[in-house]
Amino acid sequence: MNVLRPIKSVDDLVRSGLIEEAERLALDEVAARYAIALTPAMARLIDHADPADPIARQFVPDAAELVTTPEERADPIGDHAHSPVEGIVHRYPDRVLLKAVHVCPVYCRFCFRREMVGPQGLGTLEPAALAAAFDYIRGHSEIWEVILTGGDPLVLSPRRLGDILSELAAIRHVKIVRFHTRVPVVDPQNINGELIAALKASGKTVYVALHANHPRELTAEARAACARLVDAGIVMVSQSVLLKGVNDDPDVLAELMRAFVEARVKPYYLHHPDLAPGTSHFRLSIEEGQKIVSSLRGRISGLCQPTYILDIPGGYGKAVIGETAVQATGEGCYSISDYRGNEHPYPPVD
Ligand code: SF4
Repeated sequence: MNVLRPIKSVDDLVRSGLIEEAERLALDEVAARYAIALTPAMARLIDHADPADPIARQFVPDAAELVTTPEERADPIGDHAHSPVEGIVHRYPDRVLLKAVHVCPVYCRFCFRREMVGPQGLGTLEPAALAAAFDYIRGHSEIWEVILTGGDPLVLSPRRLGDILSELAAIRHVKIVRFHTRVPVVDPQNINGELIAALKASGKTVYVALHANHPRELTAEARAACARLVDAGIVMVSQSVLLKGVNDDPDVLAELMRAFVEARVKPYYLHHPDLAPGTSHFRLSIEEGQKIVSSLRGRISGLCQPTYILDIPGGYGKAVIGETAVQATGEGCYSISDYRGNEHPYPPVD
């Protein structure tokens, strides 16, 4: 079906054939709690003949979201514990998150901020709150990097983005501005000259971290959008979430990482799924994740290797959880595991 308009409700999902009428009752309940949105680009990518389609699984709501397990929490990575003023999360010394907007062009069913984003979420920062957030950044000279996230900051108009970046331009200690976004993949036409000019308005070094989870998301249009950003001098890195039924397969993950590198997007983080409410059907164990990630070693180029990380619940920050290849075996002696799983002493014993 050629979807031309964004899908934003259960009615829209039924009309577009993405769910059956019989599912409506349960999904109305899901929709009352968590936002729904798919862009036409993502809706068109879904294979209606495949009941396990990995694109649908990411964006089409599921009755399984009504199950909240005891370990799940509204603020899984502890943003609130590190928020000195509205819109700022200052978890690590040299960088802050600036959450200017809590709206996204798509709502991922596994979202770690699902209790904050969406039409009923925290909305867009009011001008006074935004001014207070800039005051905070200005007043903390240790802040080297500002990460615009949310929500998806690239839903803001070029004018509003330009305003935010002009404020950052005047703060000398801020050297890096990073945007976390799904827009180049889910709404590639939006990456146009006006938007790119706005992103560069601060004169700082600009990074764009692209969120995508399945190689099919890297369509020709998405790759062209990435090319426009990179050609404009913006550095791109990736972030993905390891998700059951989407990319928990070494072949799929390898293809995704290669697709990023081909598009000049350096693989950066592969997140273990967070303990967001109603997302247990996406989670795999850390051991399963480590097995998949370690299978990428040797199989694909070093350029394609992401860092497998977990955001420690409670706001304690990120921990690298990829399987370690090194084990101490004695004073100054180690055993190193190669990509085939064979052990080698280090230093070598001749
Ligand atoms: S784009 Fe990011 S913030 Fe928005 S719903 Fe998806 S994971 Fe959540």
